[in-house]
Amino acid sequence: MSIRVWDYLQEYEEEREDILGCVEQVFRSGRLILGPQVEALEQEFARYCECAYGVGVGNATDGLFLALKALDIGPGDEVVTVANTAVPTVAAIQAAGATARFVDVSDETLLMNTSQLDEVITPRTKCILPVHLFGQCVDMGAVRRIAEGARIRVVEDCAQSHGATYRGCRAGRLGDMGVFSFYPTKPLGGYGDGGMLTTNDADLAKRLRRLRFYGMEGAYYSEEPGYNSRLDELQAAILRRKLVRLEGYIERRREIASRYQRALARTSLRLPVEVEGNRHVYYLYVVRHAKRDWLLEQLRAREILLNISYPWPIHLMRGFSHLGYKEGSLPVTERAAKEVFSLPLYPSLPDASIEAVCRALGELLGESVDL
Ligand SMILES: *Cc1c(COP(=O)(O)O)cnc(C)c1O
Repeated sequence: MSIRVWDYLQEYEEEREDILGCVEQVFRSGRLILGPQVEALEQEFARYCECAYGVGVGNATDGLFLALKALDIGPGDEVVTVANTAVPTVAAIQAAGATARFVDVSDETLLMNTSQLDEVITPRTKCILPVHLFGQCVDMGAVRRIAEGARIRVVEDCAQSHGATYRGCRAGRLGDMGVFSFYPTKPLGGYGDGGMLTTNDADLAKRLRRLRFYGMEGAYYSEEPGYNSRLDELQAAILRRKLVRLEGYIERRREIASRYQRALARTSLRLPVEVEGNRHVYYLYVVRHAKRDWLLEQLRAREILLNISYPWPIHLMRGFSHLGYKEGSLPVTERAAKEVFSLPLYPSLPDASIEAVCRALGELLGESVDL
C-alpha cells in the first residue's frame, strides 16, 4: 500500500454512518439550498471562530472575491498579499479587478514578512490579505497596526487555518473578514466544495449575504449587482457533524506534527516552526531540504507519494506575468519553492505510516531518526 500525503477513506470508514445519516436527513428534508443546515452551520462556525457572523459560500475563492467586492475593491485598487500561497488567493484578487502586490515571506515561518508591508503600501492600496499558510497565523498584531495607520482593510485567507490562534484569538476574527475553505483536504473539509466568511461587522455580513445571492435580500428582487455562490445543505449538514470533532482532529494533527518533530530533529531537514503565542493546526507539515527533488523521487520509488506546496511562486507564473515581477524580486519565496515538501498529515494517518516516512527519510539522507 502506498502512503499518500492526504487521504479521507479511513476517516470515512470511521464516520460513515454519521455522514450517511446527514445525507439521508437532508435529502428527506425537502430543502437543498440555503436552508436550516446552512443557517445553523453559519452560526456554529462563527461561534467557533469567536465571530458574530458567518456567511456560507460556494468555495473560498468565491469567498475572497466576495470579501473584496463587499469592501468595494476593484479596478485601480491594490491588494497586498504573498506569492507563497495557493493560486486562488491571487486569482480572487484578479477576479475582483484589483491588482495584487506582493511582499516576501519570513525565512523562518514562510509566512508574510510584515516588515516589508510599509514599502509596498501606496495610496492605491485598499487591503492587506495575509494568508495563514499551512495552518499558522501571520503576525496579525503587525498587520493590523500597519492597516490602521494606512486606513486600509484586512481580509484573512483562513483556507488552511480553521482553529488556528494568534495570541489566543482564533483565525477569522483577526481582521475585517476571514475566509475559510471546506475543500475536502482542509482542516475542516466537506465531501465536496464549500466555504465561509466570518466577520464581526453586521453591515459587511449583510452585504456578503446579498452578494452571494444575486444582490437579493428577499425573493426575486435585486438590490445591487450580485453573484451566485452558495453553500449547499448537504455539505453544511456534514460540516456541522465534523465541526463537533474539529478540536479532536486538530489535536491529532498536532500530535502527528510533534512525532515528526521528535523523529526528524537531528536530520538535515528544516522543520516547521510554531511561533510563540500561536497555535499551529498543521494543515500541512512542510519541511525543507536542498535535495528536495531527489528525495521525492526516491520516496516515490518506495511508494511514499508526497506533495509540494508550492512548487512555483505565483509572481513567476505565466498566468500572472502581467503583474510585472521578475525572478529575484521575492528571494525567500523563490528559494523556498525549490526546497519545500509536505509530509503526510491528516487525522486518520496511521502511526505506522509516520514511522515508515521518517525511516525512509533517515535512510535516504544517511542520518539518524529518533523513532
Ligand atoms: C484552498 C485554498 C483556497 C481556495 O479554497 P477553495 O475553497 O478551493 O476555493 C484559497 N487560499 C488558500 C491559501 C487555500 O489553501
